[in-house]
Amino acid sequence: MALKVGMIPHNLPTLGLEEQAAAAQTLASGWVAQGPEVEAFENELCQFLDLPSGHAVAVSSGSAALFLALWALGGKNKRVGLPVYACAALRNAVGLIDGKCVYLDCEEGSPNVDVSAAIRADIGILIAPSMFGIPADLPESRGFLVIEDLAQSLGAMIAGKRIGLRGEIGICSFYATKLMTTGGQGGAVISRDRVLIEKVRDYREFDCRDDTKLRFNFQITDMQAAVGRVQLGKLPTFLEQREQLFGIYHEASLDLLGATVAEAIRPVRYRAVMRCAEPMRLIETLRQNDICAIVPVERWELLDMHENYPVADRLTGATISLPIYPALAASDAQKVASIAKYFA
Ligand SMILES: *Cc1c(COP(=O)(O)O)cnc(C)c1O
Repeated sequence: MALKVGMIPHNLPTLGLEEQAAAAQTLASGWVAQGPEVEAFENELCQFLDLPSGHAVAVSSGSAALFLALWALGGKNKRVGLPVYACAALRNAVGLIDGKCVYLDCEEGSPNVDVSAAIRADIGILIAPSMFGIPADLPESRGFLVIEDLAQSLGAMIAGKRIGLRGEIGICSFYATKLMTTGGQGGAVISRDRVLIEKVRDYREFDCRDDTKLRFNFQITDMQAAVGRVQLGKLPTFLEQREQLFGIYHEASLDLLGATVAEAIRPVRYRAVMRCAEPMRLIETLRQNDICAIVPVERWELLDMHENYPVADRLTGATISLPIYPALAASDAQKVASIAKYFA
């Protein structure tokens, strides 16, 4: 592999000659803006998620996808529930649409949002990420609209079906370090609802319109989509490679989030997050052994005052994220495990 520079990074995109060839071919074709590659990518994403063609819209980032999802659901002035234990992209999207953020704690024993708290919070919309690849628990009846955030969980399954479509609308991120990338930045909005998805598609571009409605430019390029198509084709293999690495950590008896889940649930291993009493000491010990590990969500990264969210607050002080990505050698994962197990 191309990355033998001494240090084992925390994560890394897996880009090969096929991605290079796809990008080069698009450049050589002379058509680089949004076009046939984007449409093909969208439809392959639909296939992957078992959606009919036309139900995915590729956009420039996961953040853009969140904004568009909130826009399509009429998020302006609505109370929008979001977990404090997540990434700032959620807060930014709610801010941009002029919604009201209603912050929520995690469910006890899980990095995901506490849906019973969401039900009590009188919200109009919930943004529900499945953190670290572990499917969030979303009840069927709930009294608010749901945006499923698949940024960390594309490919995860419940009862043999891929998640992402349990709410009104779903979003993906194809940023460099997510499960797959469209060459650095990218995202998508997905929905079973034809009306919602056409609203999103309409807002994505502004050119050649015969009315004065506000729109924006949230497009990705054909070059990005061509890279994305190759990555999507490799995604099942990537997920399998991640599962095997997770298995190495699991066999070393590390206390990993999402290691034991209900039988019907199949997480993807976006992150190998280990519970440990002294995260900073473990991070330092790993660093001395040329291994990068991080606190997956730091206390200061919580989206609201930490003392009001005890479950999330405790997670920030008791977890570390170990290296996991398709190109990580099994021998390197074993080396990580052999050190981490003394901190379990
Ligand atoms: C990365 C991420 C996003 C934002 O995606 P970008 O493509 O980086 O804008 C949103 N939600 C979650 C849960 C993420 O991990």
